[in-house]
Amino acid sequence: MPRYAEMSKAELEAELAEVRARYGEMAARGLKLNMARGKPSAAQLELSLPMLDVLDSEADLAAEDGTDCRNYGVLDGIPEAKRLMAALLDDEPENVIVLGNASLTAMYDAMVRYLVFGALGSTPWGRLPEVKWLCPVPGYDRHFSICEDLGIEMIPVPLCEDGPDMEEVERLVVADDAIKGIWCVPKYSNPSGITYSDETVRRLAAMECAADDFRIFWDNAYAVHHFSGDPAEQDIVLDIAEACREAGNPDRYLKFGSTSKITFPGAGVAALAASPANIAEIKRHLGVQAIGHDKLNQLRHARFLEEGARLPEHMAAHGALMGPKFELVEKKLAEELAEAGIATWTNPRGGYFVSFEGPAGTARRIVELAKNAGVTMTDAGATWPYGDDPADSNIRIAPSLPPLEELDAAMDVFTCCVKLAALEQLVE
Ligand code: PLP
Repeated sequence: MPRYAEMSKAELEAELAEVRARYGEMAARGLKLNMARGKPSAAQLELSLPMLDVLDSEADLAAEDGTDCRNYGVLDGIPEAKRLMAALLDDEPENVIVLGNASLTAMYDAMVRYLVFGALGSTPWGRLPEVKWLCPVPGYDRHFSICEDLGIEMIPVPLCEDGPDMEEVERLVVADDAIKGIWCVPKYSNPSGITYSDETVRRLAAMECAADDFRIFWDNAYAVHHFSGDPAEQDIVLDIAEACREAGNPDRYLKFGSTSKITFPGAGVAALAASPANIAEIKRHLGVQAIGHDKLNQLRHARFLEEGARLPEHMAAHGALMGPKFELVEKKLAEELAEAGIATWTNPRGGYFVSFEGPAGTARRIVELAKNAGVTMTDAGATWPYGDDPADSNIRIAPSLPPLEELDAAMDVFTCCVKLAALEQLVE
């Protein structure tokens, strides 16, 4: 089959009729499949079930320092949980605060603190006429929702193969002191799956910013989520903390992470890591907000994951379930769409998503067609600030939840919808 761009009008019309008929057959099957959100599958959740037996009524419920985990106290986490989360955040336990169940809450709270109190003595951001934030695109919709909710103006910057377009980032941050920070998902980014290069990390740490209190929100949600046993050399991310210290900007970053996609989303442990000055400032406010977080869950996680020592084995088991799903997505996209020359997509080595680029002006139509045929995708536009993808071309594919056979059927529907939307545009 030639590329769609090289087909005559008559050939395109014939192809449209064929694809439309296939779409009709698929829609008639009454499918109910979901590729909308990055949820672990039931088989992945099974991997952490033994964790629920770690703490029974016979277990020693004291942390190693003697803290009774059943009772109030310990604002920043029990020592063994701090070591676990330090392993995850690539930092030292003394720079870590172990929080509740969601890193998203930690990011929201961090942003609110800056709006209300400022950062290390700076003017509270909420008192400034405007606050802006750099948003690499395509990006994570819930990051964008935090900014939107808090009235922070989002500025999209392109996300390239090795991280945000640094020329553009450097140009923007030096010129405008209203730009207070940037979202970064440095490893297996959501949704493109790319990993930041060492050079990108160094440039983010060292760039000249008009705002003295510029902050990098370093959301390492997929720090250990590779599909094969060991991460590839290029997936080992340079430590942002070290890079910031070396560049003379030691307080520029806040690292966030959680065990949501290691154990149980919604019932995991989240944490942040930051410089000593930032940690002290955060603890001051956190101590008013809470007496301590769920130490029983911290203890359970620390023991189950052996303070991080069991992470490689545990994540390899996740990878063994995820890898084949991503291979299937790649195979289906290549088989169905490569020849037509109408789309590009990423092929990540870890994380939870594939980023798909269809012809300009078709993403909304593709998602609508898929929905009408029983396949729910992430809303088109979700990967852009304000839900507004100017090219209407990007779609996030989330293959983790459905079992392989369902994913197979869902990808058949999706690729058919891509062709149909592209042909409608070319012919009509
Ligand atoms: N950060 C990123 C980049 C994510 O993709 C997700 C979930 O999809 C989260 C954070 C949510 O993490 P948590 O469950 O710790 O709130």
